[in-house]
Amino acid sequence: MKKIGILGGMSPESTTLYYEHMTRTYTARFGDYGYPEILIYSVNFQKFVDWQHKGQWEEAAREMAAALESLRLAGADFGLIATNTMHIVFEEVQRAVKMPLLSIVQATAEAIRAAGLRSVGLLGTVFTMSERFFREGLERPGTTVLVPEAGDQQRINDVIYQELCRGEIRPSSRELFLEIIKLLRGRGAEGIVLGCTEIPLLVQPQHCDLPLFNTALLHAGKALDFALQPAQ
Ligand code: GLU
Repeated sequence: MKKIGILGGMSPESTTLYYEHMTRTYTARFGDYGYPEILIYSVNFQKFVDWQHKGQWEEAAREMAAALESLRLAGADFGLIATNTMHIVFEEVQRAVKMPLLSIVQATAEAIRAAGLRSVGLLGTVFTMSERFFREGLERPGTTVLVPEAGDQQRINDVIYQELCRGEIRPSSRELFLEIIKLLRGRGAEGIVLGCTEIPLLVQPQHCDLPLFNTALLHAGKALDFALQPAQ
């Protein structure tokens, strides 16, 4: 089995989802506790929030590459960046790290393709919804990606950073997200990408009858499968 390296802490609320999902899924599948070994590097999230707001993506990429290299030196065979937003610099980080990284965007694109949907709505931070990296990673001939209008993007972003990343779950914010999902559905969305690893703490399948793509769990599940494949 391969050893998994998770670059986490962005935020801690969702890093725990990865850890739980991998270990519980393993045990549900195989019946024992023989899950792959997992290393977690939890960063100083404030530094990344500051870099995001100043647009200093190269600084963030450098720090992520250094942390992932520490995980590799500690024994990780491959790595995950446990946040959608920071995949904005995925290619740069992968170039600087001497082990494979599994992309959350690719894991999500594969799930949408497997579900055969023609149009999905994307919720996430303003960076994930407004920059090209995520939408372009999901779009395929025959699949379009819809994002909320600018005011709603800002409202979603505020809930993510001011509530969900602190572990605060408010019913009024869930109502807001469900209203925005309804608007996306009215524009033709057949499914909704929870493109921020904290959104699944707020919006779950029992709240919405459209298919939901939980990017944290798709990413964690793909990592578990990869860890269980014999090394080439
Ligand atoms: N975890 C969030 C995401 O998936 C946002 C936090 C961040 O990395 O800025 O995009």
